[in-house]
Amino acid sequence: MKNTLDRDAKELYALGDELFKHPELGYKEFTNKKILTDYFTSHGIKVTELGFRTAFKATIGSGSPKIGLIAELDAIPTLGHPFADKKDNAAHSCGHSTQCAIMAYALVKLKDVIKNGSVSVYFTPAEEFTDVAFRKQLIKKHEINYIGGKINMLTAGLFDDEDLFIHLHTMGSSGYHFSLNTSLCGFVYKEMIFHGKATHAAVAPDKGINALNAFVLFDNAINMLRETFKEEDYIRIHDIIDEGGQTVNSIPEKVIYECYVRSLNSNALLKTAEKVDNAAKNCAKAIGASVTIKTTPGYLPMHQCRLINDVIKKNMLKYCKLEEIHDDEISMAAGDIGDLSIFKPTVQFGYSGFSGNCHGKDLCISDNVRAYLEPSKVIYDTVLYLLNHPDYVDRIKKEFKPSMDKKEYLAYLD
Ligand SMILES: [Zn+2]
Repeated sequence: MKNTLDRDAKELYALGDELFKHPELGYKEFTNKKILTDYFTSHGIKVTELGFRTAFKATIGSGSPKIGLIAELDAIPTLGHPFADKKDNAAHSCGHSTQCAIMAYALVKLKDVIKNGSVSVYFTPAEEFTDVAFRKQLIKKHEINYIGGKINMLTAGLFDDEDLFIHLHTMGSSGYHFSLNTSLCGFVYKEMIFHGKATHAAVAPDKGINALNAFVLFDNAINMLRETFKEEDYIRIHDIIDEGGQTVNSIPEKVIYECYVRSLNSNALLKTAEKVDNAAKNCAKAIGASVTIKTTPGYLPMHQCRLINDVIKKNMLKYCKLEEIHDDEISMAAGDIGDLSIFKPTVQFGYSGFSGNCHGKDLCISDNVRAYLEPSKVIYDTVLYLLNHPDYVDRIKKEFKPSMDKKEYLAYLD
């Protein structure tokens, strides 16, 4: 028998399609916000502004339990994606637009059936840690305090009211139907500037100091360090050069470099970050150059609430077999949902229905039922179960132990 979510699925696909075709980078998601606000208004649902330029929430019901749902608004620069923005290459190659459509549709459908408790979808800006120069300007202008959207919202206390949070993310073109209890890495972000001394590249290279050579030495050192990484720590260092020199006929005066250091293990992450700094300083010194290093905390590793995932798993099994669920997956991805999971019982599950590579120009939605409808039904059924079982929500809250308090967290962010 078809239920109400099946019956109006075309509305869900149309909303998802519109969002997918309007990708915007973090803190610039004004069109996506308008599309979603119009959608909620047309269904008589109130939307509340949450600041930080584009953050907002849509709420139904009142009282307890209080269920928070999380959907990310932002896109990521992706050269050559068919729907990439002409100016900044923003594209939904991480599928965040589908999260927004799934959560919005589930909320609209829940509105007609909930009898107790409240459900809010939090639309969060800027999950992708990118476009950093623009965001640093926003920090200077006091429009935001941190690079990541949820970090701003978390430190402002905007998530404090909810009992728990449910989030979801595409798995890209993984062979599984759903994933559950997936780990996410922590990371730190580093910006380094190698300083040399420009002289004529052909006439007087002996009088110069080559910042690009300092960088190349450092890059080799990073690769030599890789054999010191333990497999179980899942360490990754990935990087780009923004500027490799100023003009080809001069010895490079300056090289600008960015990297993430990631690990599933917070201690290994900090130790590796220190090794990277030492390598940069000493490689620069070896050829008479210098380096300035700026480290910014990225996101914390994810802690999945297994009690919530037990309910989600039962609802997933309505659409697939047990062996089609990737349980306890180890993922090297990271997200600011990890920070939220330190303070509240939180889950992020994965869904399928995509082809191509995440963050690649070929990522697209290949199966509307898997990419939109089934996850909407999983959210709908899970929320209804939790609202109808307040004792279970109490147990979730009781068993949850925050691994850091707000004071410690603020100290870590500084
Ligand atoms: Zn993503």
